[in-house]
Amino acid sequence: MPLQLAPLSRRNFLRHAIAGSTALLLARQVARAASRPVDPDAWALLSDTHIAADRKKIAREINLTDHLTAVVADVLAWPTRPAGALIDGDLAFGTGEAGDYATLGELLTPLRGAGMPLTLALGNHDHRERFWAGLGTDRRTVTAVADKQVAIVSSARANWFVLDSLDRTNVTPGVLGTAQLAWLAAALDAHANKPALVMVHHNPSTGGNKNGLTETEALLEVLRPRRHVKAHFFGHSHRWSVERDSSGLHLVNLPATSYPFDKTQPTGWVKANLAAGGLRLELRALDSKHPAHGQVHSIEWRSA
Ligand SMILES: [Zn+2]
Repeated sequence: MPLQLAPLSRRNFLRHAIAGSTALLLARQVARAASRPVDPDAWALLSDTHIAADRKKIAREINLTDHLTAVVADVLAWPTRPAGALIDGDLAFGTGEAGDYATLGELLTPLRGAGMPLTLALGNHDHRERFWAGLGTDRRTVTAVADKQVAIVSSARANWFVLDSLDRTNVTPGVLGTAQLAWLAAALDAHANKPALVMVHHNPSTGGNKNGLTETEALLEVLRPRRHVKAHFFGHSHRWSVERDSSGLHLVNLPATSYPFDKTQPTGWVKANLAAGGLRLELRALDSKHPAHGQVHSIEWRSA
């Protein structure tokens, strides 16, 4: 099944765009972004949008729609047009209602209007069937794991592998399952010619934490020995961190666009720029006064 939303033509964007005075302003921002040349090495990374049907929905003192709207505007203002945006799950507020996905689709329309393909992963607050029904399909992704949402997004310098760790809606831990792990191993082996970047919603369950990915060890056993796998991205914990394990694999925890569980953590998104031997990651915090805003990690790939 698809998890990718294709760019929209200008005419289709205007048809999708919301009516009213903000629409004109937004249309100008979108047109400006669309006029920039695409940078094939630039990617916008988002996670944990937690969008509810109701645009006024507040969670932990934060208006969820306002946060995603601000992130979308910041992505549009990026002087280079990214090759795409990846959103790492927990797209919906709590139980993945149809209306949540309808609102999410509207809020993401400016990015599609600017010509950015979007790749969406699912988290524990999503509902797979309602997501598929609610966002529709523009592009089919062939997969041997038909009941899950997996995709390979290819680019010149790296391939993104986007997995599906949604087990049961609104049940916290994540599960990939043996079929998806087997698919991943085979897919990684079939794409060993370029660096592989693996994205999963759930963070690794380590140190007695049982709320992350149930098969953390099994996943790492697939990733670590395949030396072309360079980085593992995840969300779920609503934290921003960039670490490295003993095998040299980079572990990138994407911040939530919505709210942090720990109030000292930033919310926002991450600019990712691929280079020949690594990746530059820059945190864009919604609060420009947050100490982590603008923080850059230039990570180098482990040896092959
Ligand atoms: Zn979340």
